[in-house]
Amino acid sequence: MIYENLSVNLDGHLLFAGYDTLELAKEFGTALFVMDENRIRQRCREYQKAMAAYLPAGSHPLYASKAMSIKRIYQIMKEENMGVDVVSPGELYTAVKAGFPMENAYFHGSSKTDEDIRFAMEHKIGFFICDNADELDAIDAEAARQGICQKILLRLAPGIDPHTHEKINTGRVDSKFGVAIETGQATKLVGKTLAKKNIILWGYHCHVGSQLFDEALFCDTATNMLTFVADMQKQYGHTAKVVNLGGGMGVPYTEEQGKIDYAGTIQKIGAYITALCQQLQIAPPAILMEPGRSIVADSGITLYSVTGTKEIPGFKNFVGIDGGMTDNPRYTLYQSPYTVYNAGKMNECADFVCTVAGRCCESGDLIQENITLPRPVRGDILAVLTTGAYNYSMASNYNRVPRPPVVMIGQNGPYIAVRRETYEDLLLCDQ
Ligand SMILES: *Cc1c(COP(=O)(O)O)cnc(C)c1O
Repeated sequence: MIYENLSVNLDGHLLFAGYDTLELAKEFGTALFVMDENRIRQRCREYQKAMAAYLPAGSHPLYASKAMSIKRIYQIMKEENMGVDVVSPGELYTAVKAGFPMENAYFHGSSKTDEDIRFAMEHKIGFFICDNADELDAIDAEAARQGICQKILLRLAPGIDPHTHEKINTGRVDSKFGVAIETGQATKLVGKTLAKKNIILWGYHCHVGSQLFDEALFCDTATNMLTFVADMQKQYGHTAKVVNLGGGMGVPYTEEQGKIDYAGTIQKIGAYITALCQQLQIAPPAILMEPGRSIVADSGITLYSVTGTKEIPGFKNFVGIDGGMTDNPRYTLYQSPYTVYNAGKMNECADFVCTVAGRCCESGDLIQENITLPRPVRGDILAVLTTGAYNYSMASNYNRVPRPPVVMIGQNGPYIAVRRETYEDLLLCDQ
């Protein structure tokens, strides 16, 4: 099967992390997110081990928490000694409430308000990733007001085009994120930063995109970033302590996409960076990486109940489910591929070509088109794999659909990490 934590029992039921998905659906109801806590921890350790082994001293991973931001995740990250990225005061607040040590947190985002900046500093965030010159002034002013020196990384647009999906392509010169190296603006901003009294320039950050499978992209990015480090060393005598290469390591959503060896990829990037630093004659800075998707995506699945099928002869067949774009908008947004199983019929012949459609009043509310399943009937359980990243965190209440719960499979079995929303929850803010 596509992942090691999936198997099939003698009754033809799909097991996830050793648990019968039909039993989980019965116990916790559908739609349901299920996450494999052990696998999340394994992923963190895989990154930490490889980065410690193959990258310059002090290199380590940060979990990009926008992929899945709930209290329990920040507790796991704390236990695993991971750093975390937050992109909003809401994520930051969730991390604070989970008891995450804020000195290991990095505050991202290309559009921070004064209030966001104050909030993050009051909670003693370790680092700001500063996106632009206006933001730099605002961070400096707030740091002065609070009487502190704030550590920052400057976000650079390294001019790398990873040719991934347009909406997750973030490192080109014309990106909305960061300051461009090739226009000379980044160099000017470094000068401006170094003149600020209440800011410490710790290093540089970039993030070129998501769902990247080619390590050459990370090497090209490292070339542009480390060349910039060397230039700033020459121009201003400033030594960067860290260079953050961002996240983006790909995750296979279907069998055809193949597997990706994260440790092997990091080893290749490490060898490249060592040679590059020698060539540039700079001391190798610590390297940070910010995996989000590759930490949690394949640790999650979604279970739905089938509400029925609709066959339109000569056209297509629909399978209705009790969820959809409200818990997983990724097909609607990006036509993302997913692997879907009829979880109780794993040993039956898959011969029913169909489109899985959600419950919203939107024709675009689809989870997947033209897949083949053992013919589903009302009450069957469908499992959609690889939904641990950018599903719960992108979920909405459109059509007043309550969000599903998140059940984690932990050391001692399944437990509820986030309970199911109730209709009352939907009215909490209504006056
Ligand atoms: C989204 C994002 C990440 C994580 O990307 P993944 O593809 O989930 O690994 C990391 N860093 C930044 C700045 C991001 O915006």
